Amino acid sequence: MTKNLSILGSTGSIGTQTLSVCEKLGINVTALTANSNIGLLEQQVRRFKPKLAVMGSESLALDLKQRLSDMDVKVSYGLDGLCEAAAEESADTVLTAVVGMIGLKPTLTAIAAKKNIALANKETLVAGGSLVMKAAKENGVMIYPVDSEHSAVFQCLQGCPDKKMLKKLILTASGGPFFGRSYDSLKDVTVEQALNHPNWSMGAKITIDSASMMNKGLEVIEARWLFDVPVENIDVVVHRESIVHSMIEYNDNSVIAQLGVPDMKIPIQYALTYPERYPCDVGVLDLSQVCTLSFYKPDYDTFKCLRACKRAMSVGGTATAIANGANEEAVRLFLDRKISFTDIGDIVWDSLDAVGARQITCLDDVLTADKAARDFVKSISR
Ligand code: NAD
Ligand code: MG
Repeated sequence: MTKNLSILGSTGSIGTQTLSVCEKLGINVTALTANSNIGLLEQQVRRFKPKLAVMGSESLALDLKQRLSDMDVKVSYGLDGLCEAAAEESADTVLTAVVGMIGLKPTLTAIAAKKNIALANKETLVAGGSLVMKAAKENGVMIYPVDSEHSAVFQCLQGCPDKKMLKKLILTASGGPFFGRSYDSLKDVTVEQALNHPNWSMGAKITIDSASMMNKGLEVIEARWLFDVPVENIDVVVHRESIVHSMIEYNDNSVIAQLGVPDMKIPIQYALTYPERYPCDVGVLDLSQVCTLSFYKPDYDTFKCLRACKRAMSVGGTATAIANGANEEAVRLFLDRKISFTDIGDIVWDSLDAVGARQITCLDDVLTADKAARDFVKSISR
């Protein structure tokens, strides 16, 4: 395939799967970035020969440069390095797979440099969706969803004659490891239990977000921006088997779904090959083996994060950046065993009371709200 791709977050779960798709399809890799996993980034650079490699810090960048002294590759670091990778001259597409809203500025940089975006990094849209979608429109670039639910909606929308005929998006949620549990019974769950996702193998932060259902809240907001659908028209349904990846409902009540085995290589590949399809290195879906597809209403009382995201979306402006920033800090504290699992939802909810939301006019508005939310979490967890 004649595609030149920069990958932000190439050593993570999405990043490594993206590289295996690139290898299979012969996609040229122009830049690779990692926060701290220097050994894996070195291997990736040797294999894919990008022009630029980026590490999280200056000292790691110096170390990487030395390890790669036999190769012709530029090495940079930090947020500036991520932005450099995002704007790498020979790239036509940037796949954003860093974790957290740290991805916002590099995404805006890539858009300004007229690169199409394959977006896995949902926190970017949650924090600054209005800025990202406006910039994409102004620069005439496409944002292709990588998140499986949004890829499913995008796939279902192919052939939609007019968006006016669309009634609803229905996002599916696995329900995570704590489906069916009460709020009180979740107070003492351990990090290990929360990291034990039934269907997907992913990075730690999104796995905790899936257990708390924050992930689905983030995805409702992500869908609102990607598809320009009012949040009232985005439903969530718990679907334990993760086979139906999401659905759309038309005004005649016909529902279109996208199905497949739970493997991120399908949505990653579609984001890179759209509108074409190629054979993909994933299992075949055998519904006679799956036997049952089950669907339930989400429990908004137990999973307070999901409720908080809907609330943030209805407040608008920087409220979703506040909920996201508070969650990023709360998840870090939970993984460090400093707070309990149910504290995460309480903190996200309380951040919306503690930090006032404002209109978003520029990137600084988002960064200020994000910092205020993080400061709030730090102040209560001391
Ligand atoms: P991960 O933790 O496995 O990987 C994160 C990547 O980002 C790594 O390469 C890491 O080095 C880099 N990174 C982390 N913090 C950084 C920082 N501060 N600065 C620069 N680089 C940094 O995460 P993941 O599971 O691959 O998820 C990546 C993104 O994709 C997240 O936003 C997640 O919500 C989204 N996503 C993931 C999946 C999945 O199946 N893993 C599915 C849908 C969406
Ligand atoms: Mg998802």
